[in-house]
Amino acid sequence: MEQAADINPQPQPRSVSILGSTGSIGKSTIDLLMGHREKFRVRALTANKNVALLAEQARALQSEVAVVADEASYLALKAALSGTGIRVAAGSEAVLEAASHPADWVMAAIVGSAGVEATLAAIRQGRTVALANKEALVCAGPFMMDAVAKSGATLLPVDSEHNAVFQVFDPVRREGIRRIILTASGGPFLRRSRESLHDVTPAEAIRHPNWSMGAKISVDSATMMNKSLEIIEASYLFNLPSEQIDVMIHPQSLVHSMVEYIDGSILSQMGAPDMRTPIAHTLAWPARLRTMGDRLDLTQKMSFEFEPIDTERFYAVNIARNALKAGIGYPTVLNAANEVAVDAFLRGVIRFTAIENVSDKVLQTIKIKAISGITDIFSLDAEARAIAAAVIQAVK
Ligand code: NAD
Ligand code: MG
Repeated sequence: MEQAADINPQPQPRSVSILGSTGSIGKSTIDLLMGHREKFRVRALTANKNVALLAEQARALQSEVAVVADEASYLALKAALSGTGIRVAAGSEAVLEAASHPADWVMAAIVGSAGVEATLAAIRQGRTVALANKEALVCAGPFMMDAVAKSGATLLPVDSEHNAVFQVFDPVRREGIRRIILTASGGPFLRRSRESLHDVTPAEAIRHPNWSMGAKISVDSATMMNKSLEIIEASYLFNLPSEQIDVMIHPQSLVHSMVEYIDGSILSQMGAPDMRTPIAHTLAWPARLRTMGDRLDLTQKMSFEFEPIDTERFYAVNIARNALKAGIGYPTVLNAANEVAVDAFLRGVIRFTAIENVSDKVLQTIKIKAISGITDIFSLDAEARAIAAAVIQAVK
């Protein structure tokens, strides 16, 4: 079949920056940019430490700026880009400057709440921000959505479920929406009992059946904490209570999520499990961009299964719903505790089955004081991390 031309080609190249360009989402974004060189100009690329890949990306796309968060990597990056004219910087302030650097579109793809400030910096500039960094929203959702409203930024979800919902969600006639349904593959341990997961290794936990992703989100998918964070993410993005956000197991990862309307219509977005599709959707939005990845081949026989989620088996989902209902600050605590627990699991310090227990325990222990600004959120995040570290000392 002949390749269809892109609809509504942009008249001028769109200027773009990527926060976290060396990660899984960052690399998929780079891949799309490489395939559409004439449509985009790269302003800034940032990474944590991976100097070699960052320098390669910056050269290939002729980025104006390249930044490493790790200050000790400054000289290595400078040497790797010498003679190119690409400006080089290091440190967390430099990452914030890169996030604020003029660009039409900014990909927020740093992992964890380490990305909150950079994502907020891009939002405050009123940019179009493609949000992959769900932990930033779970950590600081109300403040982030407030900043979006104040700056006039456009926040486009990259997370495949939220991107799917966004594509079929009618914001003008919200009263017609009954609920949204996030689909979940169930991860690598869907059919295994909780007891059988005692000795799961990090390598087993990050081997996702359908998606290729960074280590942290892969572990979250195995515990189902990823879906839990996604319920909270959806609540902030679409301004819906927990009761209007359902989760269904869909092992094939082909239907990326759904919106059910009050007349019984269910609208969904489908596609191959390839993050380049939702990223492309945000890159060109409201136009469309051709992607080079796998496509759903509808000439093949395939099955689409849906089943309810067993919340006794995957109780991370209940932890998230309770945190959301408990109000501001609790999602921050859940996210921080989970990040610390996942890190400890990946370092071999705690068992896979202890990850949710750590989050649960921290949520039960912490006393949240009044929260009036983002600095209170940062203090709470730090406090939750300290409690999580103490809980881990006790369980390991
Ligand atoms: P990853 O670990 O592969 O990449 C993370 C990126 O962030 C890297 O570029 C790394 O250098 C950078 N980074 C890490 N710590 C940093 C710090 N302290 N300061 C500055 N930069 C830092 O992660 P990923 O899988 O690409 O995920 C990125 C985000 O996107 C996560 O929030 C994840 O939940 C979300 N997401 C990922 C996928 C996926 O398919 N990978 C899907 C949906 C959502
Ligand atoms: Mg997702």
